[in-house]
Amino acid sequence: MDVEQILEDTYRAVRPLIGSGAVAEYIPRLAAVNPDQFGMAVVMNDGREFQVGDSLVPFSVQSMSKVLSLVLVLADHGEDIWRRVGREPSGAAFNSLTQLEYSRGIPRNPFVNAGALVVTDQLLTTKRQMSDFPVEQNPILDFVRQESGNPAIGLDSLVARSEAEHSDRNAAIAHLLSSFGNLQNPVDEVLEQYFEQCAISMNCRDVAVAVSFLARGGIRHDGTQLLSLSEVKRVNSVMLTSGFYDAAGEFAYRVGLPGKSGVGGGILAIVPGHCSICVWAPGLNASGNSLVGVAALDEFTTRTGWSIF
Ligand code: GLU
Repeated sequence: MDVEQILEDTYRAVRPLIGSGAVAEYIPRLAAVNPDQFGMAVVMNDGREFQVGDSLVPFSVQSMSKVLSLVLVLADHGEDIWRRVGREPSGAAFNSLTQLEYSRGIPRNPFVNAGALVVTDQLLTTKRQMSDFPVEQNPILDFVRQESGNPAIGLDSLVARSEAEHSDRNAAIAHLLSSFGNLQNPVDEVLEQYFEQCAISMNCRDVAVAVSFLARGGIRHDGTQLLSLSEVKRVNSVMLTSGFYDAAGEFAYRVGLPGKSGVGGGILAIVPGHCSICVWAPGLNASGNSLVGVAALDEFTTRTGWSIF
C-alpha cells in the first residue's frame, strides 16, 4: 500500500475544511493559536515515517498527555490504579463535577479531568519515592523526550500559567477528590503537575513516535517492554471507549481506532500491530475534538482500510 500517497490524498481531501472549528477559548493562550494549520504523521511499526502539512509545528498536547500518565502509572504500579478510578465512558463533560459527587470520589475513567487528576496524583507519589528522579522534572516530559529521540521537547510555561490562572473548575474537581480521600498529595501540587503535563508542546511526528509502543505491543524504541501485551490492550480499550470526550461513539463510528484527543486540537490514534498516527488542526467541533483531525482520520482509515473492526 502506498501510505505516502494516501496521506497526500487525505490532506487534499480535508484541505477545504482547514481553519474550521473553534479554538479552545477557556485557556486564553490556546485561544491565540492560528486555526489555519494542519499536520499529520504516521509511524509504521517497521520504522517508516510519513508526514504531511504542519507535522513539525509544535502544539499543546493537553489531554493527549493523559494517555502517557496512565501508561507510566500502569508500568510502575500495575492494576492498582483501578481501585481509584473507573473505566467506563462518562457520557458527561470532561470537566464534570456531578458524576464525582454521585460516585463518592471515584472518577468514571482516567481520561476525564477527575480521573486524570487521580492518575497524576499517583504519578507524583511515585516520582517522590524515586530518589534518583529530579523533583523538578516532569516524568511525562522526560518520557516523551526519550521515546521520540527529541531532547528539545519542552513545556510551554505560558500555557501552563494561563490554565492555572483559569483553573476554578479543575481546582473544584481536585478539592472534591481530596474531600473523598482520593488524592495522596496536596491539591495545589497535583494541579501544578497536571497543568504542566497538559502544556507539553510537541509536533505530530514526535507524538506519533512517542506513542508507537502502543502499536508495538508495549515495546519501546530501545527494545524494552514498557507494558505487557494485556496492559496495552487495556490502555487501547479505554482510549476507544473514553478517549473522545462525549463523542467516543462518533469517533469509533467514523474512524474505528483507539485514540485520544486534546483541546489543543491534537489527536493520537493507534492501529494495533501496525502504526501510530498523530493529526493536529486547532479548530474543535462541538464535542471538543479537532474538526479537521477527525475528518482526516476518517479519510485515512477509509482509504487504507485500517481499523480495528
Ligand atoms: N488542560 C485541559 C483541562 O484540564 C485539558 C483538557 C483537554 O485537553 O481535554 O481543561
